[in-house]
Amino acid sequence: MNVLVLNCGSSSLKYQLINAATETALATGICERIGIDGKFKYKSNTGAKVEKQVTMETHETAVKCVLDALVEPETGVIKSLDEIGAVGHRVVHGGESFAQSVVIDDEVIKAIEACSDLAPLHNPANLIGINACKALMPNVPMVAVFDTAFHQSMPARAYLYGLPCKYYDEYKIRKYGFHGTSHSFVSKRMAEFAGLDINNSKIIVCHLGNGASVTAVLNGKSIDTSMGLTPLEGLTMGTRSGDIDPAIIEYIVNKEGKTVSEVIAMLNKESGVQGMSGGLSSDFRDLTIASEEGNVLAIQALEVYSYRVAKYIGSYVAAMNGVDAIAFTAGIGENDDLVRANVVGYLGYLGITLDKEKNNTKSNELYICTPDSKVKVAIIPTNEELAIARETMALI
Ligand code: AMP
Repeated sequence: MNVLVLNCGSSSLKYQLINAATETALATGICERIGIDGKFKYKSNTGAKVEKQVTMETHETAVKCVLDALVEPETGVIKSLDEIGAVGHRVVHGGESFAQSVVIDDEVIKAIEACSDLAPLHNPANLIGINACKALMPNVPMVAVFDTAFHQSMPARAYLYGLPCKYYDEYKIRKYGFHGTSHSFVSKRMAEFAGLDINNSKIIVCHLGNGASVTAVLNGKSIDTSMGLTPLEGLTMGTRSGDIDPAIIEYIVNKEGKTVSEVIAMLNKESGVQGMSGGLSSDFRDLTIASEEGNVLAIQALEVYSYRVAKYIGSYVAAMNGVDAIAFTAGIGENDDLVRANVVGYLGYLGITLDKEKNNTKSNELYICTPDSKVKVAIIPTNEELAIARETMALI
């Protein structure tokens, strides 16, 4: 059976058609600038490539475009839509309603709508994708896979903020955490890779992409994670500030006559390593080149980045009273040897020594610590689409 995995953003839609038996992607692509002008990209595992401007007024048009491409006689990968057995939707926020993935029905759609004020940019876009598929493929079962679900196992001591209790009671303000699909996938794979029994293991996953988070996974369950009510909390990221003193917001509002929303937008979109490097770039490849050329702001941004990751690792070692394995994943975690080396450089107290040669090797799954290291450290590539396809198959 083939599973169509959809990840709908406000103006984009990423997709993969995955053969569930072989766990391979038959086709991948992205629709961008939905509602603006429309850009369509498609790539099949047979080497076909399509890139074109298509007017995509709505997400429904975009989904239609994807389905047409999949069955297109020349470049498509299936003969008819009957070959799509299920659709797996990435949904960003499941609030406290969803501790695992669910088959989508009208009740689930209502519950996702109810979580929308917790993720006003993401959940409405996810729902548009769900409704578009419902209209175009009414008989195909659909599953919602939530970014927050894996973290619902966190204990109250990890998810409660030090606020008056009414804010949790009335508005459910608490830490939810994100990237759950990736943290779950990578922690399981790390356990297999290291020969650990997942039910008796202490694993820290560093998902370092443009958005970034660290999770403490104890016996296969998330017990703490660095993102919070929203993805703004935690690590310094590509363009997000991560943890700051909340009083900074009022200070900037008063200094610059900005609204709170404007400052929050700045913290989300103009901060992190991009802001710290004076607007140079949020891309670590650019920052590494600039730092090698002696750009002081780029050097500082990279130092702050790695230091923050190392501090989170330290706090999760304390939370779990130890650690067996640490996994690096996502764009930066998988590719940036300098960031990994800098982070691991802080972890000597755990009996970890970096294997420099291995750390500089381009490879799939790989230990980057020396064999005598007391804690295993490895690169474990994430695959959120495959994880969504697996969850979908398990439920339908
Ligand atoms: P992701 O959000 O997981 O797709 O990660 C995207 C980020 O990964 C980019 O913004 C880059 O900062 C980083 N990245 C991707 N490839 C490389 C690379 N070869 N070396 C360093 N950083 C990379």
